[in-house]
Amino acid sequence: MVALNLFIRRWAHLPSPAAIFSALILISITQTAAAQTYQWRLAMSWPEGTPMLHNAAARFASNVEKMSAGRMQIIVDAPGRHKAPLGVFDMVRSGAYEMGHTTSYYYKGKDPATTFFTTTPFGMNPTEMNAWYYYGGGLELLNKVYSRHNIVAFPAGNTHIQMGGWFRKEIRSLQDLKGLKMRIPGHAGEVVGRAGMKPVSIPPGELYTALERGTIDAVEWVGPANDEKMGFQKIAPFYYTGWHEPGAELHVFINKDKFEALPEDLKAMIQIAAKEASFDMLSESFYRNVMAWEEMREKGDIQIRSFPKDVLDAFRKANDELLIQATEESPLVKEVIESQQTFLNKAKHWSKITDADYLQLR
Ligand code: CA
Repeated sequence: MVALNLFIRRWAHLPSPAAIFSALILISITQTAAAQTYQWRLAMSWPEGTPMLHNAAARFASNVEKMSAGRMQIIVDAPGRHKAPLGVFDMVRSGAYEMGHTTSYYYKGKDPATTFFTTTPFGMNPTEMNAWYYYGGGLELLNKVYSRHNIVAFPAGNTHIQMGGWFRKEIRSLQDLKGLKMRIPGHAGEVVGRAGMKPVSIPPGELYTALERGTIDAVEWVGPANDEKMGFQKIAPFYYTGWHEPGAELHVFINKDKFEALPEDLKAMIQIAAKEASFDMLSESFYRNVMAWEEMREKGDIQIRSFPKDVLDAFRKANDELLIQATEESPLVKEVIESQQTFLNKAKHWSKITDADYLQLR
């Protein structure tokens, strides 16, 4: 009798046939989700083969595919195919492309709050930028801005500190800059405009000819490794050190509806691959610029210069005025600028007694 009671109690603790059936359905759904494959397309802003920038997009896509064991394939399309290098925002927002690899400051016309997620003149260097993005609230702010446009965004590449550009003639004072036409896009273009230059926007493929023919007097692009490929050193020997893009961050854009419909593991893989692309492009950029600059330096036909004090003072003043003006554009622009400036003002003290001090004594 005791044995029978024990048997009944054990039987009572077993799951009912209905519960077993439910569990089997759940397992089946989970397996179906795990087995589902995605073939997504990514539109990048950079021409096919652009050093570092294309590599970052390709590496991101390849890492997602490897981590997901092929469940997500990402086909990378260059502007040669999609025809809209600066249209990535719209193509991802609409879902025409599930993803993009681009940079935020191209889209000021869509939303002024996007401007400062790439870089800010006299702003954060890559180390400070990463600290702000990943621990100082930057990533949350980025997505506060982009979620209004049905986009999820992650940092995914950094150029390191960019050079100030190639000039046909030496700049000895602010007076020498007045009226010069320079290719320099975005907020920095507005800064030099306020300081007396004429900023112009010319597609990358036409820059060399424009500089050679004197349509423009100066051009900024990225740094030695990228600039060397453009050939600017042959026609504009004065190469100025940087102030305007102290580490431009690139971004992966993802259509928000499509991102949110993904299983959690694929979402995590995308985020990890973006973070890895950010780290890897910064490392590759630094390495390739070291090598390219070494080669340029040895040839000895490039005149390296820093802008004179009155020029930098004028740029700094114009930048400060434009940032104050920008905070009045919308509460969200104000929030982004204030978040960055608050962090930068604290980081400056630490960077001064670490990076700056160390580089001086090395
Ligand atoms: Ca640039």
